[in-house]
Amino acid sequence: MSDTPKHARFRTLLILGAPGSGKGTQGKVLGSIPRFHHLACGDVFRSLDTRTPLGQKFVEYSSRGELVPDDVTVALWHANVKHRVEAYLFKPEIDFLVLDGIPRNVEQARILEKHIEVLRVFHLSCPDRTELARRLRKRALKDNRFDDANESVIQQRFATYEAETKPILDYYSGDRIVNIDASQPPAKVLYDILGGVMTLDAWKELEKMKI
Ligand code: AMP
Repeated sequence: MSDTPKHARFRTLLILGAPGSGKGTQGKVLGSIPRFHHLACGDVFRSLDTRTPLGQKFVEYSSRGELVPDDVTVALWHANVKHRVEAYLFKPEIDFLVLDGIPRNVEQARILEKHIEVLRVFHLSCPDRTELARRLRKRALKDNRFDDANESVIQQRFATYEAETKPILDYYSGDRIVNIDASQPPAKVLYDILGGVMTLDAWKELEKMKI
């Protein structure tokens, strides 16, 4: 008999979209609902002490609007998620993992394959870059995000998204992808995301369990 746990890979919902598309907002709301655990890679980076070598690396890349190298990113992510499991914050047997900001390119998607089972990819789509830039400038002031304050960094973040992150949609392709209009009010975006969750077999299974 195999002793592999039933959910050896975390059952995962990805939120994917350009900077300013509302990934963090949706992730936070979803994460406040029982059975959904939200993990934002950018938040993990921002929680680092900037005096440490890794913290310095984050500042170096993010202040240019570029991605931190894959090996460090995935190692940091893995250590963080492991800690959450050990602390019973994230319970993989009964919770969905809601990832925002990772994977950020196809290589990361490949590396993460052994840790996560991607059930849905919610693509928050907003072709209007002017609107996204407006949201980022607003956030820069509110949340003290230095990488959103500078116009050329904002443009670089969009370019990085187009070149490196968007190809993830082809990597996962098929009916796992749910395209959502990110210019809708946040409540409607959430409604669309939940609609995509509730058609999952894994969700129906969970519904039957009285937890
Ligand atoms: P975010 O808060 O998701 O917009 O991330 C802010 C910055 O953190 C990004 O511009 C990157 O420099 C870095 N970052 C966050 N997630 C990743 C990731 N998965 N891979 C590489 N860099 C990342």
